[in-house]
Amino acid sequence: MNTLQDKVILVTGASRGIGASIAHNLAAAGAKVIVNYAGSKEAADQTVNEILGKGGEAIAIQADVSNSAAVKTLFDQAIAHYGRVDVLVNNAGIMITKLLKDTTDEDFAKQFDVNVKGTFNTMREAATRLADKGSIINFSTSVNRIMLPGYSTYVATKAAVEQLSRVFSKEVGDRGINVNSISPGPTNTELFTNGKPKEVIDRLASLSAFNRIGEPEDIARVVAFLASDEAKWITAQNIGANGGMA
Ligand code: NDP
Repeated sequence: MNTLQDKVILVTGASRGIGASIAHNLAAAGAKVIVNYAGSKEAADQTVNEILGKGGEAIAIQADVSNSAAVKTLFDQAIAHYGRVDVLVNNAGIMITKLLKDTTDEDFAKQFDVNVKGTFNTMREAATRLADKGSIINFSTSVNRIMLPGYSTYVATKAAVEQLSRVFSKEVGDRGINVNSISPGPTNTELFTNGKPKEVIDRLASLSAFNRIGEPEDIARVVAFLASDEAKWITAQNIGANGGMA
């Protein structure tokens, strides 16, 4: 039985990369998808149009997840359009890789604003506005499991996301909501490939059991499972989706 049929699913950062793939995959399974984006209106509209073209259901809603007022409006608009939100996928995220000594106050604040405050903002709305028996899937990283120079502030944000997820699961469990985080390994999107020489990508690919980096669809399939009723007994967990790299 397809338990994603007609679920209303809000995917943050779904204009590009992993989020766009998640939106496509969930819509193909019958979900009604809210494609959130920050600045890439054209890409978000394209994601929605492709979904509609295949007979799926989706709308694009702009909101910077680091802005709590914008996140409140995002939920207002989503609920006005579809009547409810069943699943929240907190995929929006940014990564700035620099040695700690070179990381500016702005680099630090920006990553915490989007990755941690963004996740906090949407979960605070979800605490009272996500439907009973809903699901929340937050985004961490498998880089948390290895010590890669240059990733210190990024993994600090993702460690915070994992902890927020664990504790929050105990605060909303009485409404039947499960909360998990997923930790992709290196995945073929702009966030990962931007500025990386081929030899660095190949070295990271060699850490996986399958000698490749992930594709957005690899992650989207795991999100679809976590969003489904089949995963309801899983909560407060971090799921590695990394081809065994860590
Ligand atoms: P991309 O850079 O390809 O896409 C990021 C998405 O997030 C875009 O849709 C972007 O929207 C959106 N976004 C960024 N800032 C905001 C904001 N303030 N408010 C709303 N949306 C925002 O990233 P990936 O697809 O690679 O990453 C998705 C998630 O997976 C992130 O949380 C990332 O940390 C995590 N991850 C990625 C890995 C990888 O190797 N790719 C590995 C491990 C984890 P817009 O286009 O409008 O700016």
